[in-house]
Amino acid sequence: MSTPENVQIRLNQRPTGHPDENTWKVVTEPAPSPGEGEMLLRNIYLSIDPAMRGWLNDAKSYIPPVGIGEVMRALSLSQVEASNHPGFEVGDYVTGTQGVQLYALSDGEGLRKVDPGLGPLPRYLSVLGMTGMTAYFGLLEVGQPKEGETVLVSGAAGAVGGVVGQIAKIKGCRAVGICGGQEKSRFVVEELGFDAAIDYKTEDLKRAIKSNCPDGVDVYFDNVGGETLDAALACLAQGARIPICGAISQYNATDGIKGPANYLSLLVNRARMQGFVVFDYAASYGKAAAEMAGWIAQGKLKSKEHLVEGIERFPEALGMLFRGENLGKLVLKVGEE
Ligand code: NAP
Repeated sequence: MSTPENVQIRLNQRPTGHPDENTWKVVTEPAPSPGEGEMLLRNIYLSIDPAMRGWLNDAKSYIPPVGIGEVMRALSLSQVEASNHPGFEVGDYVTGTQGVQLYALSDGEGLRKVDPGLGPLPRYLSVLGMTGMTAYFGLLEVGQPKEGETVLVSGAAGAVGGVVGQIAKIKGCRAVGICGGQEKSRFVVEELGFDAAIDYKTEDLKRAIKSNCPDGVDVYFDNVGGETLDAALACLAQGARIPICGAISQYNATDGIKGPANYLSLLVNRARMQGFVVFDYAASYGKAAAEMAGWIAQGKLKSKEHLVEGIERFPEALGMLFRGENLGKLVLKVGEE
């Protein structure tokens, strides 16, 4: 086999605010050869995640930042191209964290084999991957919804939010989504089966939450933070739970992150707000994925992926998340299946 060419997107410079053309450096070099116990993986799909913005900051977090000059971190769906590893054969499909590049070496650590016969490959980066797990554990473990309760979720037409609302429906709750624009609102109600959607770009948020959640909000699953979190806090039911999943409205802030002004609503309503990181539930991913796959087979859960093609489009794809240009889970296709 002739040595294939590897294309990598490396971190060139830490951004202030939104990443720009100086943030990245494209490097082209021959793909490496696997040593003893190693394999060469060919990336096919890369997961494009809001968390990537946080990984660019030189700050303490749940995971170390990407270093200057390093290949940008990304979750991946790859195929084994060459193997000196006893546990993996050429042709196996695996998920892992192989970064924004066409080829990567691996010793097998952190890899999970996937069965391509069980569904489309990008689904392993969406409902059956990290974002699906985030929705599942964030809602069920942290949010603890009960039948008949009202679950409000922001980023409702996105990867995590769209699954949160659908699981809320499966659990017998009223699901209300907050998202940007009429098309997304129509999508979450008509295609994902939410009970109602609120377009935060045109509606008065607080008034719309109150009218769509007449008994108050029992679970507010927060993906965006900022003003949306404040509006949700103003509409809580007694004993409400708020899983803090993310705060995408704040990730590019250059003048500090804005916290909620309405936090005393937690006191009045005996409510709680709790952050979580999906990786803490890794030991239970298999069980959750099996249950989610069952819901998909029964037609109760839809998986929606938004594909962008070409590794050179990584910077553009990352920006799409912050401009609200994705519908469902954003996935970058960098190789052929
Ligand atoms: P996503 O929802 O598929 O995409 C991001 C969406 O955020 C955009 O489509 C956009 O939708 C919305 N958005 C962007 N800027 C916004 C703003 N200023 N105000 C309000 N909404 C804005 O992304 P995802 O992968 O599902 O991630 C959702 C959240 O979960 C993120 O905060 C992410 O960091 C978090 N997350 C957390 C964990 C964890 O372990 N805690 C794991 C995975 C993801 P609209 O068009 O509707 O505005």
